[in-house]
Amino acid sequence: MGVFGIIGEKRTSVAQSVYYGLYALQHRGQESAGIVVNDDGLFSLHKGSGLVNDVFDKKTLDSLGKGNMAIGHVRYGTLLTKDKANAEPIVVNHIKGRLAIATDGAIVNAVELKHELELQGMIFHTTSDAEIISYVITKERITSASIEEAVYKAMDKLLGGYCLLLMSPQKIIAARDKNGIRPLCYGRKENGEYVIASESCALDSVGATFVREIKPGEIVVFSANGEVKSLTERCNKEKETLCVFEYVYTARPDSVICDCSVHLARKRAGAYLAKAHPVEADVVVGVPDSGLDAARGYAEESGIPYEIGLIKNKYIGRTFISPGQSTREDLVRIKLNPVSSTVKGKRVVLVDDSIVRGTTCARLVRLLRSAGATEVHLRSSAPPFLNPCYYGTDIDSKEALIANNHTIDEIRDIVGADTLGYLPLEAVTKLGESGNCTGYCTACFDGNYPTETPKCPKDRYDYKISEKHE
Ligand code: AMP
Repeated sequence: MGVFGIIGEKRTSVAQSVYYGLYALQHRGQESAGIVVNDDGLFSLHKGSGLVNDVFDKKTLDSLGKGNMAIGHVRYGTLLTKDKANAEPIVVNHIKGRLAIATDGAIVNAVELKHELELQGMIFHTTSDAEIISYVITKERITSASIEEAVYKAMDKLLGGYCLLLMSPQKIIAARDKNGIRPLCYGRKENGEYVIASESCALDSVGATFVREIKPGEIVVFSANGEVKSLTERCNKEKETLCVFEYVYTARPDSVICDCSVHLARKRAGAYLAKAHPVEADVVVGVPDSGLDAARGYAEESGIPYEIGLIKNKYIGRTFISPGQSTREDLVRIKLNPVSSTVKGKRVVLVDDSIVRGTTCARLVRLLRSAGATEVHLRSSAPPFLNPCYYGTDIDSKEALIANNHTIDEIRDIVGADTLGYLPLEAVTKLGESGNCTGYCTACFDGNYPTETPKCPKDRYDYKISEKHE
């Protein structure tokens, strides 16, 4: 999921700026999009299902009116939260005013918090963490001197990997969980406006200059008068465990996270992969988009020429977003097509960023062979995906992960490759080595979760409700 916010002078085009920012963050979620504009405490919201471009047009953007701040969101839906009602930002009216909230990531104690709140009589309209988070914050607000104090107290209760953007009538508050699992940064435009975004590529999209990242555990308060205040009491760089999958897959290659270019991190993955799994071949081909940089890295390290071997239909979202195995297979088929002049009669090294269920690469190996490749050597620029992610990536069932159920030789045979090589686990924490990140969450590869893990699966939300009704 992606969040974006802007604060500064009152103007009519503030929604338009958020729209551009969300466009740049579209890769972080394609299920829904939303923008809230704040005009002196009067909030105008528009959100809906689909891509940013489906949800907004000139009329809807204009209808949001003028304002001096706004926040927006793109949602990456999981099977459990695909409901339209879960679109963010969420706007709530509470005893001390109004609040809009947009989130990235996920909290691991959502079920317990929700249950606790329900027992106090709260009712929920969605199955999203954002609604739980907004209740926890507004409850704290009753006994706090300010909204930032309420956020501060609430964060003690919210466990997991998340970033928050909250907008009150007067301020935008940006916060990151104490492990800094999901990225969040801010920048400044020449006209003095501040811009906060999940990734730096969204700052670029509105002409803002990167200022810095929000630190793990930090709360930064941006006020309408241009003041920026940081609450750093909980910051602890030693606790940092950035999701390493941001470098591998999630983030855009033109973003910089922890002072390291995502593009360079991916090239580095390719180079490590070439060292760990060399092979005699004629050409290196990457799976668009997130496998391309690693393929270049593999080619440079191995000396095997890099070529464009697969063309992606740019008008289809990420395959993973569509739930249901048959839909996914259909999408892979229409999404990528081989360039036969690159692969015909050649021994091909095929580099993808990751193998999750194994559907994509099995299909691609078949495609390359049907286009005339004599050998296909599959390389994954991530280690074997073994564990569910509890911090907002839609990989929540161990059973679905191919590496969990099969040995590497079995996977090679299942996907039909001549050889198969994964990035070694030791290399994955070196991908950002030119940057300043001090630690990574590698739980999906090694099971070392930096926080508590959920005691109760999220699909028990409904179970708990029906249990009470009985
Ligand atoms: P699979 O077909 O299940 O093995 O999926 C692997 C493909 O999905 C790779 O090409 C990745 O680029 C992509 N992918 C990996 N992780 C995710 C994710 N969390 N959401 C969407 N796509 C993903």
